[in-house]
Amino acid sequence: MDYSRYFRDYPDKDGYFGEYGGRHVPPELEKPFREVADAYQSICHSAEFINELRRIRREFQGRPTPVYHCNRLSRHLGNCQIYLKREDLNHTGAHKLNHCMGEGLLAKFLGKKKLIAETGAGQHGVALATAAAYFGLECEIHMGLVDIAKQAPNVTRMKILGAKVVPVSRGLQTLKEAVDSAFESYLASYEDSIYCIGSALGPHPFPLMVRDFQMCVGLEAREQFKEMTGILPDAVCACVGGGSNSAGMFSAFLADPVDIYGVEPLGRGPGKGDHAASITFGKKGTLHGFDSYVLEDENGNPDPVYSIASGLDYPSVGPEHAFWKDLGRVNYVTATDEEAVDAFFKLSRYEGIIPALESAHAIAYAMRLAKEMQTGAILVNCSGRGDKDVDYIVERFGYGENYKFPEA
Ligand SMILES: *Cc1c(COP(=O)(O)O)cnc(C)c1O
Repeated sequence: MDYSRYFRDYPDKDGYFGEYGGRHVPPELEKPFREVADAYQSICHSAEFINELRRIRREFQGRPTPVYHCNRLSRHLGNCQIYLKREDLNHTGAHKLNHCMGEGLLAKFLGKKKLIAETGAGQHGVALATAAAYFGLECEIHMGLVDIAKQAPNVTRMKILGAKVVPVSRGLQTLKEAVDSAFESYLASYEDSIYCIGSALGPHPFPLMVRDFQMCVGLEAREQFKEMTGILPDAVCACVGGGSNSAGMFSAFLADPVDIYGVEPLGRGPGKGDHAASITFGKKGTLHGFDSYVLEDENGNPDPVYSIASGLDYPSVGPEHAFWKDLGRVNYVTATDEEAVDAFFKLSRYEGIIPALESAHAIAYAMRLAKEMQTGAILVNCSGRGDKDVDYIVERFGYGENYKFPEA
């Protein structure tokens, strides 16, 4: 594969990365999604759009976020040096705002009035409500009743930001039903609205668009790391849920002599229902409008998934990751709940940075890799901050002093 041509060749015009991706939607939705794809293809090369997005990133989001050398953590582990890309310092505390601001700006350029999305844990809902407030757009977030009860603080944030939270009471009252409900609402109002997906997945053009909007993470980090050290890192590492923060990070390094690691959540272990490691244990299939690796049974029903990090528990993965897996360009590996919690405490204690449990998966794997590599440098994407996770962690693990971690 010639990676210098990669971005011109993939995805193809139908949204395929090799055999993954595409756009499998009900015929009624084909037209609105095609319109968004056409609009994006022209706008993404427009200087006006790009410059406006750059200004927003600088003035509103606080970008570039820094790259930070974890001196004390690295010394604790040996001689290999760990660096973090600090997406936890992006406005709202995670990388998700990067694509929500892009989607909001696209909506504005298209003259739409409303942003529609579903949310599970509420992180995407909060980021999108933030974008909607910034652009003066209406925002409608569909959320299962079960999730509304579990994620009360995020529901409060969305409402403060002016979003309308639509409670979904059908079925299991969680993410899947919220997706159906959001799709129906979009179908009824697509002339005026745009559907905003929360990761680098879904029907074309979303995997492409979200990847592009997240690429600021990798492009900044690559330049910053080179400026700090004069060279490139030996390895780059990020957690993979739907695959947006990792796609943004990895795509800047595809053509470089750098090892790339995507870390999937192994949860309680490899048993069905105990993890959400879709690439590691999944098989080729179709879910939510695109082809990729899917965790599903013989009848094509998605498996139940689990992770301590609610942002990682999705039974499939963005199609570009499936492609990178098959190309052998990215190594897909795993970290368990326990390893993530261990990394959560170590980063807090050694560096004064409390990471999101999602990000702690990437840090956990980097800690393991640092011991194996012994020398060199690893650049890890710290996709978000851990404030949202502290109550749950303390309830289950106390303050970390008395808990025996696997490595100890
Ligand atoms: C949502 C979330 C993730 C997982 O989503 P990706 O699309 O895989 O990046 C990771 N980290 C944080 C902090 C999140 O909020």
